[in-house]
Amino acid sequence: MSENFYDVLGVSRDASEEEIKKAYRKQAAEHHPDVSDDDDAEERFKKIQKAKEVLTDEQKRQQYDQMGHDRFTEADKRGATGGGGPGGAGGPFGGAGGAGGAGGFEDIFNQFFGGGGGRGRGGGGGNRPRQGQDLRTGLTIDLEEAFEGATKEVTLTRPAKCDTCDGAGHPPDADVETCPQCNGRGQVQQVQQTPLGRVQQTSTCPRCGGEGELYSEDCADCGGDGVVREEATLSVEIPAGIRSGQSLRMEREGAPGENGGPNGDLLIEVDVDVGDRFERDGDDLRVNEAVSFPQAVFGDTIEVETVDGSVEMDVPAGTQSGETFRLKGKGMPRLRRRGRGDLYVQVGVVVPDSLNDEQREALEAFAEAGGEDIDVGGGFFEKLKSSF
Ligand SMILES: [Zn+2]
Ligand SMILES: [Zn+2]
Repeated sequence: MSENFYDVLGVSRDASEEEIKKAYRKQAAEHHPDVSDDDDAEERFKKIQKAKEVLTDEQKRQQYDQMGHDRFTEADKRGATGGGGPGGAGGPFGGAGGAGGAGGFEDIFNQFFGGGGGRGRGGGGGNRPRQGQDLRTGLTIDLEEAFEGATKEVTLTRPAKCDTCDGAGHPPDADVETCPQCNGRGQVQQVQQTPLGRVQQTSTCPRCGGEGELYSEDCADCGGDGVVREEATLSVEIPAGIRSGQSLRMEREGAPGENGGPNGDLLIEVDVDVGDRFERDGDDLRVNEAVSFPQAVFGDTIEVETVDGSVEMDVPAGTQSGETFRLKGKGMPRLRRRGRGDLYVQVGVVVPDSLNDEQREALEAFAEAGGEDIDVGGGFFEKLKSSF
């Protein structure tokens, strides 16, 4: 059940080259992996490109029409067209123009069983106001910024309403005719055979994109989409305590809505680069500190560098190498709550790799006093190391 190229672009079999190109621009703008938050956006985008490549080449289109989709794509192999078997990306419904591009099996289920399907998506269409798509981008900050909170700038390219035509897609003085395919309704009925039986589906008219009208002229700046791509730089407030993988939502900074609907949102996924010193475990931090053998034996107070300055920590007498101590409230701030996580300090006892004569004698005496018989000439250091 491969989706044919006409459905992919949402055009009729007798669409002109111009209509195909226009439909391509519309679909491409919507399903570009940079702007679409569908999981299969990239796959979808490739299909759209392949469909345009074939249908705008007169010879290829002729072959395609004669051979049919499956045989053509077989013959055309190596290309990334066609793709999935049953249930693969792109069901019969999705391609029918307008914003209905998501397609696929899941959409069918959603339509049957009333699943959400995401606002503004799926069938229907027409001239109802629709919220624009949410967009996603990423941002990397360091641990100090995650600790303090920060204001950062993100720059992204995103679709925006075309100023020239105010999103209409055509000059205000363009001639208008009623769309012959939908008689101005903006919607068409399709009957589809699906694994769940025959389904009558109302979808956005592929010819007019749901507007019900065709215009004599496209806007020169947006080519009829009503949408252009713009580079935007936005200032983002990063709250203290944010963790890697968490997203910040900037409302109304996503793709423009349709028919006067509001913009979608922009989701910024934050990655926190923790650096080399600390390990982060939720709101807790972990760090390693070295102490000398005498410090471990006799106990001492050491300085520990935390994420916000150094503090003193008591190492009790008789501390073993590898023991961990907790500094309460010295970890990361809790996101949008009071309090902080803890800092866990793991103490490692450092074995000296060289000794002066005095130290050597003292250690030999230490060993002797403990009744240890150490062959000082040969394996002294090995034995010393393994004893710790
Ligand atoms: Zn325009
Ligand atoms: Zn129409």
